[in-house]
Amino acid sequence: MKVYYDNDVDVSLLKNRKIAILGYGSQGHAQAQNMKENGINVIIGQRKNSKSYDAAVADGFSPVEIEEAVQQADIIQILLPDEFQKEIYEKQIAPHLTKGKCLVFSHGFNIHYNLVKPSVEVDVYMVAPKGPGHIVRREFVNGAGVPGLIAIYQDVSGNAEKIALAHSKAVGCTKVGVLKTTFKEETETDLFGEQVVLCGGLTQLVKAGFETLTEAGYAPEMAYFECLHEIKLIVDLMYEGGIANMRYSISETAEYGDYVTGPKIIDESAKKRMKEVLKNIQNGKFAKDFIQEANTGKIRMNAERNLMKAHPIEKVGEKLRKMMSSLFKNKLVK
Ligand code: NDP
Ligand code: MG
Repeated sequence: MKVYYDNDVDVSLLKNRKIAILGYGSQGHAQAQNMKENGINVIIGQRKNSKSYDAAVADGFSPVEIEEAVQQADIIQILLPDEFQKEIYEKQIAPHLTKGKCLVFSHGFNIHYNLVKPSVEVDVYMVAPKGPGHIVRREFVNGAGVPGLIAIYQDVSGNAEKIALAHSKAVGCTKVGVLKTTFKEETETDLFGEQVVLCGGLTQLVKAGFETLTEAGYAPEMAYFECLHEIKLIVDLMYEGGIANMRYSISETAEYGDYVTGPKIIDESAKKRMKEVLKNIQNGKFAKDFIQEANTGKIRMNAERNLMKAHPIEKVGEKLRKMMSSLFKNKLVK
């Protein structure tokens, strides 16, 4: 697989083009500011009377309505929540998306599941930084970056790949490395990763470990340290040098326990369920369920948020993090 770096990419392709960032949320604020500081002409399309609008103003932008941003720009990047993109595209974007413009996504969800059916007269590509928006911004400010993906769905101009690469450089991703993928592959692997490993799998693992220890009578503070706090220390080692790098640093006792116990927790039956999850991502069932949840007031999601807020691991965590506040200057949710 080819990896693109700063030197492989000519950003001057974006020189005489205006880029509209629609939505000034997690990805919007990061990508817009990175591009602006890289000399790109950026305009923000953001609805008024909202925190995101105020944030854009505070960061020195003059946000306009979505329709106006689409009219003014040559490249239109949708950084709105996935579940609302279809409606906003049809009502506010499509009527102004004239021939020769580019339509850009940072996640393939709406294109891959045929929710947004883009005009055939525009290039459609993806620039997806592989990291949460606040990290995309933080790394850029620190002079570093996060890796990224590009994908081409529709190449009307014959230049879509070059423009997508230039766009990913403007966001700061070629500093670390950019890979080329497809909308299908990005969407399906992204959903699988966040559901099975990164978010769904990890939170349930942490919670079940914490509950097992506290139900056995151990102090919640101890259970918190062992099952949540230390994750970062272990993950940093894996991030920097893979699993062997982590196992090199831990004790022999921990490493032996890793080999004999890990496979009992994540066993063949867990893998079988992972395959079922993947099937539901591939056949569109997950996407359908999620859109239905969004269209019916996110009842399940709000209930889960409230349940978790009340869980002892969050309560004890709040207390302990206050006692170690020097570690958590970057906390996002206050
Ligand atoms: P956020 O929820 O953080 O931000 C969404 C933005 O859209 C906000 O500015 C919000 O403004 C605005 N918005 C929300 N609802 C509406 C609406 N109905 N009409 C108009 N504007 C609205 O989104 P993310 O940055 O998380 O996600 C954007 C895209 O980036 C998605 O495609 C996502 O999959 C992708 N992505 C996200 C990543 C991440 O780090 N979060 C990682 C990689 C890709 P307001 O304040 O007014 O609600
Ligand atoms: Mg993801």
